[in-house]
Amino acid sequence: MKPVYLDNNATTRVDPQVVEAMLPFFTEQFGNASSMHGFGASVGAAIRKARQQVQELIGAEFDHEVVFTSGGTESDNTAILSALETQRGRDEIVTSAVEHPAVLSLCEHLEKTRGVRVHRIPVDAKGRLDIDAYRRALGPRTAIASVMWANNETGTIFPVETLAELAHDSGALFHTDAVQAVGKIAIDIKTSAIDLLSLSGHKLHAPKGIGALYVRRGVRLRPLIRGGHQERARRAGTENVPAIVGLGAAAELALRHLSEECGRVRALRDRLEAGLLERIDNAMVTGDPANRLPNTTNIAFEYIEGEAILLRLNREGIAASSGSACTSGSLEPSHVLRAMNVPYTAAHGATRFSFSRDNTEEDVERVLDVLPAIVRDLRSLSPFWQGNGGGQAGFQPTYA
Ligand SMILES: *Cc1c(COP(=O)(O)O)cnc(C)c1O
Repeated sequence: MKPVYLDNNATTRVDPQVVEAMLPFFTEQFGNASSMHGFGASVGAAIRKARQQVQELIGAEFDHEVVFTSGGTESDNTAILSALETQRGRDEIVTSAVEHPAVLSLCEHLEKTRGVRVHRIPVDAKGRLDIDAYRRALGPRTAIASVMWANNETGTIFPVETLAELAHDSGALFHTDAVQAVGKIAIDIKTSAIDLLSLSGHKLHAPKGIGALYVRRGVRLRPLIRGGHQERARRAGTENVPAIVGLGAAAELALRHLSEECGRVRALRDRLEAGLLERIDNAMVTGDPANRLPNTTNIAFEYIEGEAILLRLNREGIAASSGSACTSGSLEPSHVLRAMNVPYTAAHGATRFSFSRDNTEEDVERVLDVLPAIVRDLRSLSPFWQGNGGGQAGFQPTYA
């Protein structure tokens, strides 16, 4: 049976058209863009084209606003570290409690090693940012506010345009980790006040190990990586030309498929979500249904472990995710669900299904066919389910 891949927030399949665009840059077009001969010139032209393609996807006005990096993580690190260096007399960071580890663990490190003060703004039960707390945390010491455009686990979308304006009111820079948003929802950066934006290739059908940082014209950038003059000396190192070309091609395709993402892909997601909630009781959608990526649903099945669900789904050839919970090898619910105060009994059973344009109706049917029985079976083995009358409403967990 054809495998069903519903883990597109973790990574996406490289589009065959992207592979095709990249291939010549592994063979005949092997030149170094910095070389003063024909080999270099054609490669330089390919990089320029890719930069324009990325620019168009996010609505950047100027080509020099797009800096190619090795991915989302490097872009996030570059943005935050640069702000701390360029923003004189400002040594505080305002961020959210639900960021990707690319932001959160950097902040933790800066807190411990440099005494940087980090404000982690809480979210409510739907994962929405506490805007008043955000406003209060901003001040004359804030170097940068960094809030993701959309959350990778729940799909919740944050009002980054408003957040950027609030950051500017206090003289701070504003960065957004838009890795999950780019290619899924329309983005027009030039009409916003956002200073810095991170994106990643492998979340939008380009290869892994390539991404970009948008740096608004006039915003100073201290490079994270120093060396040659590539990327106008803002990101040294010989360009990863095939990957850059691939990111450009993927950006063009993403723009072309954007309406499909918000139409067909959203409809598939909605069918799966409604179908599962109809067939399985004691299940809840986490995140903000009113403001969510069109491709993501995160459903918490009470009284069972997300990991157990994933293993059983995997046996049926279905790939999903339990969020970031198991990356640490612990059985702690993810930091995102904890920040949302999702009840323990539910958070453990959180399962994320993330779609892409590769998915079909049959994929949805397959999950609807097998998952209800898997949940029933796992619950029949769960002492928490049995010990509490099979998921009676109002049950309060007695374990920590
Ligand atoms: C995947 C992801 C990243 C990391 O991007 P890489 O290219 O894998 O380094 C950062 N932020 C978010 C929200 C992500 O989903």
